[in-house]
Amino acid sequence: MLALPVRAADEAITAKALDAQPKIPAEFARMTYPQRIEWLERQLASTSDPVRRYQLVSERAMQQYFHGNSAGTLADCRQVAPAAFDLRYRLACASAGDGDRKRQVDALLEIHADAIKAGDIDLATKALSAAAWAQSELGDIAAAFQSYEQALKLAEKALPETLIDVTLNTATLYVVHGDREYVSKGIALQEDAIARFRAMRKQYPGDADYFDSVITLTQFNAGVAHALHLQDYARALRWFGEMDPRQAEFRQGALVFSALSAVELGRTAQAREWLRQSREAPASAETDTAYLTCYQQLVQFKLDGQAKLAPCRDLSPQTPLEVSLDLYKRLAILPHPDWRLVGLDGLHRLFVQTLEPQLKQSAMRGASRAELSRLELESKLVGQLLEKEQALKRAEQDKLATQRLLAAAAVAILLLVLLVIVLRLRHNRRLARQFQSMSLEDGLTGLHNRRYFEHDIGREIGLVKRAGQEGDAHSIAFCLFDIDHFKRINDRLGHEAGDRVLVEFARRVKGAIRDTDMLVRWGGEEFLLVARVAHAGEPHRIGDRIRAAVSSDPFVIPGGASLDVTCTIGVAAYPRREGGKPAEITWQQLVQLADAALYLGKRKSRDCWVCIDRIKDIGALDRILSQDLEVSLREGLVELSDSNRTAALAGAA
Ligand code: GH3
Ligand code: MG
Ligand code: MG
Repeated sequence: MLALPVRAADEAITAKALDAQPKIPAEFARMTYPQRIEWLERQLASTSDPVRRYQLVSERAMQQYFHGNSAGTLADCRQVAPAAFDLRYRLACASAGDGDRKRQVDALLEIHADAIKAGDIDLATKALSAAAWAQSELGDIAAAFQSYEQALKLAEKALPETLIDVTLNTATLYVVHGDREYVSKGIALQEDAIARFRAMRKQYPGDADYFDSVITLTQFNAGVAHALHLQDYARALRWFGEMDPRQAEFRQGALVFSALSAVELGRTAQAREWLRQSREAPASAETDTAYLTCYQQLVQFKLDGQAKLAPCRDLSPQTPLEVSLDLYKRLAILPHPDWRLVGLDGLHRLFVQTLEPQLKQSAMRGASRAELSRLELESKLVGQLLEKEQALKRAEQDKLATQRLLAAAAVAILLLVLLVIVLRLRHNRRLARQFQSMSLEDGLTGLHNRRYFEHDIGREIGLVKRAGQEGDAHSIAFCLFDIDHFKRINDRLGHEAGDRVLVEFARRVKGAIRDTDMLVRWGGEEFLLVARVAHAGEPHRIGDRIRAAVSSDPFVIPGGASLDVTCTIGVAAYPRREGGKPAEITWQQLVQLADAALYLGKRKSRDCWVCIDRIKDIGALDRILSQDLEVSLREGLVELSDSNRTAALAGAA
């Protein structure tokens, strides 16, 4: 099967037919890239022979691929499909990719298998290395690790440049995706590659410039691996220090990461100097390094406590994953909330857009077709492996899988925690408001609760005092009521029925009072009403109204039961001194008085109200509160009335 392109190759294209074609001339090798394309196009314009056209188009496709024009390669591959035997052309087509990474991995693995069969180890290595890269892009990191390691083994028998290519790619994969152990392995591979480059530089002095630039690139990568992945800033500085300062391409990056390393090591003067130099160094011409500006601001912030946040907020989508992760992690732990929020936001975005899909996809890895063909390939390649070697391999796979699982779990937990923090920061105010309203309301009856009362009663009392000072007769009364024999309702019909009675009770009482009165659930089946009253007789009428609302009709409980419910009410009117002056009394004392009246009502008969109409001597308040209300009545300290007689209770005791 040819994965790329979809169209099958012309049957006329055979290895023999191609061999019979005139060779591409030797001078072609000495031409520049545009000259080569131009030469190929001239030849194409003058032939309609399908075999010759195949030869020319496939050469153009490969030239375009080597010079970074994947779109051009793809167009050629679509126009003239590669023949099955033509491994080089197939590799160029598959490497260019058509956007479907999974198909690309399959195609590359197949080319790899065919190249092994044909004995072309170099091409087999290249195909496997490209497949590994595509697997890592696909997020299937474990498969990529294995492919690279296999490619690395094969590469010993491939061309030297292929070996170096595979070594560096493997190193990058280890550094970017590995745990600490693998990051160190990756760095060891980079050191290995540098040694090989140095040897080859001696062997091919004509290509010294090329080798100098790849050595510098590798040193830079090793420095970054230490700074970003191992947080070993001293070693990072050593690597950056070894870099050839004439290599402008990586100079700015090295200076920025040097400044970062220095500031992390507390060497502020050095950090400042490198930061300054990094601002003067030219930006990289080839790669998008806009994120360096964010690192510069980060260093600046660490040095001075202030810097511009915008470059970190607007990281380019081309920023490599490892870099954005590192940056956001650093921002998320800064002491300033704005910086931290940008870091947390970034982490959240990365999680949703990239990490989560990768986590999910890696979970599906076992079932993926790429994995199946890889296993198939492995068995073909390796043949009969010794039992022992297989066991070793499995152990290694298990270790990798466990490491990945642990890392994934840690990242998921971390990001979840971060997510919660971000949400909390964002919705702080709304949550606070919600919380406040929730805690001021009783969940069962929907009435306000005691907290609300305590919060608001000061204002009520203030109004009454002011009204008194202005000669206004308006006052308030505290009515505390309690359902009679409520325990029996619970016992007989269940707690749920008790709840329904409470809800209905609250509804009826609410309907019997004015909107401006304050009714709260005081606790259990006790309710407190603070009602505005215009004259001395009004509290009695409030008591009557509430009793009537409660007991005139039976309560109907869902399920059919019908209940006669009554309640007892204790009332205390706000006392006045002679001359209308406000009395010195707290709301707590008023509640206590109402409670004393309620207690008296319960003792006398229940299903009634008892009202303390007047306190004759406010100076005796402490005494009144400390003894039975009936004693105070006998001693003439208070005047009471109740719903049964609506007259002074003198002598009731
Ligand atoms: P009394 O006439 O003396 O008030 O008798 P009582 O049975 O009502 O006695 P008391 O006031 O001491 O009992 C209150 C009962 O209300 C006790 C408690 O189990 C019950 N209760 C408190 N809160 C709730 C609630 O939210 N739902 C229900 N179903 N019962 C509650
Ligand atoms: Mg009670
Ligand atoms: Mg009760």
